[in-house]
Amino acid sequence: MNMKPATAKISSVALKHNIQTIKQKAPNAKIIAVVKANAYGHGVVFVSEAVEKMVDCFGVARLEEALSLRSNGITKPILLLEGFFCTQDLPILAVNNIQTVVHNIEQLEALQSSDLPNPIKVWLKIDTGMHRLGVDLSQVDEFYQALKNTPNVDPNIGFVSHFSRADEIHSDYTALQLNRFLQATADKKGERSIAASGGILFWEDSHLDWIRPGIIMYGIAPINVPAREYDLTPVMTLTSSLISVKAHKKGEPVGYGGVWVSDKDTKIGVVAIGYGDGYPRDIPTGTPVYLNGRRVPIVGKVSMDMLTVDLGQDSQDKVGDEVILWGKELPIEEIAELSGVISYELITKLTPRVLTEYVD
Ligand SMILES: *Cc1c(COP(=O)(O)O)cnc(C)c1O
Repeated sequence: MNMKPATAKISSVALKHNIQTIKQKAPNAKIIAVVKANAYGHGVVFVSEAVEKMVDCFGVARLEEALSLRSNGITKPILLLEGFFCTQDLPILAVNNIQTVVHNIEQLEALQSSDLPNPIKVWLKIDTGMHRLGVDLSQVDEFYQALKNTPNVDPNIGFVSHFSRADEIHSDYTALQLNRFLQATADKKGERSIAASGGILFWEDSHLDWIRPGIIMYGIAPINVPAREYDLTPVMTLTSSLISVKAHKKGEPVGYGGVWVSDKDTKIGVVAIGYGDGYPRDIPTGTPVYLNGRRVPIVGKVSMDMLTVDLGQDSQDKVGDEVILWGKELPIEEIAELSGVISYELITKLTPRVLTEYVD
């Protein structure tokens, strides 16, 4: 007997393939590989080591994430995508070759008033229409001049912005944001970066000097279309196994609340994965898993540690057989669509209980 609990199998071959695809799409841009949130649930140390030679910089959201890269031997530059949170963090950035976004006056003042061993590379964040982070278009010159006059700031200042609707292929808002970004930076020297995954796939003009791929590096599309359409291969295969196979009578319910009742004699399989592993609880009956070369529907409510599938009366499936929840055989984008969330949420919500296995 050999039953495996929920396991995320991670492929470095797929990761490298996706970076090649990204390079083909944006051949003239340098790459900030976005590895925030534990590399979107894929394991930050493994991912960063696997891709370090192919990329130019790493992007993270928290200082702790940057320091974990450094303590694991990553030497390429690292960029804090939302900037630093405390004035006391600045010396840590300076000595660890960590670059920062500056998006508000508080960060600028902290840079001006600190005493640092060496200057820090800064990217000025411009709000071109997302209206989340960034300085107003009207303040760009003022901030840029102030940064240039700050000895703690490396004179080679970059510019960043972020699209709010790059995944909407027919929206004209992305072109508007791009134009604002180009205009605001036209008379300035620094390198520019605005494209994340959506920009990289759908808006070629937005590639500029640096691209910031996140989700597509992991072989997942930024919209609910299977990533193979864009020559991307899923890096993660989320698997578990059957821990029970039992005959089930027509008319009998399955699981909590008895919400699903079989309309035929069948066999019910129990898969060792549930919302306690991060599999979404809110999926409709019929959402597929992949088992022994075919799709099989989930029936009944997803429990914390298990879910149930309708194997069919003639099934030959056995306890221990591998079940794929998403991966190459079953696009995560489909599961995201069915569960009413985005793939980003599915992968980042996997819990520490899920085992990680690095294949190839
Ligand atoms: C997360 C993030 C990215 C990567 O986004 P994807 O859609 O996953 O490619 C790029 N830039 C910034 C500022 C981010 O916060």
